Amino acid sequence: MEIFDSAKTLYLDLPTVAAFIKDEGVETIMEKLIPYMEEDYSKWDEFAKIPRPTHHSPVGVNELMPVGNQEIFTCKYVNGHPSNPKDKCLTVVAIGLLADVAHGYPKMLCEMTLLTAIRTAANSVMAAKYLAKENPKKMALIGNGCQSEFQAIAFHKLLGIEEINLYDIDEKATDKLIKNLSHIKDLKLNKCSSTREACKGVDIITTVTADKKFSIILTEDMIEKGVHINCVGGDCPGKTELDSKILFMGDVYVEFEPQSRIEGEIQHMDEDFKVTEIAEVIKTGKRIDRKEDDITIFDSVGFALEDFSILRLIYDLARENNIGKMELLVPAMEDCKNLYGLLK
Ligand code: NAD
Repeated sequence: MEIFDSAKTLYLDLPTVAAFIKDEGVETIMEKLIPYMEEDYSKWDEFAKIPRPTHHSPVGVNELMPVGNQEIFTCKYVNGHPSNPKDKCLTVVAIGLLADVAHGYPKMLCEMTLLTAIRTAANSVMAAKYLAKENPKKMALIGNGCQSEFQAIAFHKLLGIEEINLYDIDEKATDKLIKNLSHIKDLKLNKCSSTREACKGVDIITTVTADKKFSIILTEDMIEKGVHINCVGGDCPGKTELDSKILFMGDVYVEFEPQSRIEGEIQHMDEDFKVTEIAEVIKTGKRIDRKEDDITIFDSVGFALEDFSILRLIYDLARENNIGKMELLVPAMEDCKNLYGLLK
């Protein structure tokens, strides 16, 4: 019996995770996640890191996102297919795995589409906390698809954003966001008719659009003094959101430089273009020394460590709250050299 129990994997399917997050509150999960992320980013040098292996096709990308330290290894499978919604499929779906390093056994297999949206929004807020001007109140949110409500909630609940200017080329996406968040009475949502209009007078601009091409969502003339730009949607070779000239307007921060050079906004820049890994800032535990008018750019592509942090958190929460099912996915046997015995 004991052998069976220790070999079992905690299985968390989408309905189980969704119900748990609904009960806890999405902002509570984000609030709990940020210290996990800060702890993991602070231990940056202890992790074995690689740019994610990718499989590209004309319509999208299939990716694996592995990372580990001496205790835990995690890996996410994720895709990015911007034209999926026209076939009633999501642009991004994901599943995650957490394994122990001691024996290499999978300890948890988990839905990760919701968790990706949560960790991406928490990561954006964590970076903004260190990089953006103090007490930002107004944000532009360009791209109002699946990730957008999570970004809006995170910036409102965890960073104090009170007003968000919304723009999407698909008006229905913006209407959906406004309806989904109508219960948050102290958050003002303004539907705009262009990106330019949305970016007027804001402290933060978040771009979270999906298109498998070099898009220019933001141009230099839309960027006002003192703005922090949180670019989330450009995360693949050939898929970017900013006019490259913007990258010269302020300091650029990335997650894992070798991966960002391939996938981020900085894929257009020369190799000697200076960027700072966000871990370097987080390790100091302090906000950057920024002047009121400085522009900062977080060129986020999504890094495996953010998945590591949320899988670690969900594993802890699932065990604390006794959710999910234990399933036997790998063999458990007295004689560990007798795999064939399973077939007898
Ligand atoms: P989605 O397809 O649900 O939403 C994307 C929205 O962008 C759509 O509503 C679309 O109409 C809109 N859009 C496209 N072009 C636009 C334009 N020029 N101006 C304004 N709006 C435009 O996709 P999603 O799940 O919300 O993901 C958005 C993007 O974020 C994707 O590219 C995805 O790969 C990326 N992403 C990044 C991370 C990260 O960690 N950096 C994590 C998750 C997703």
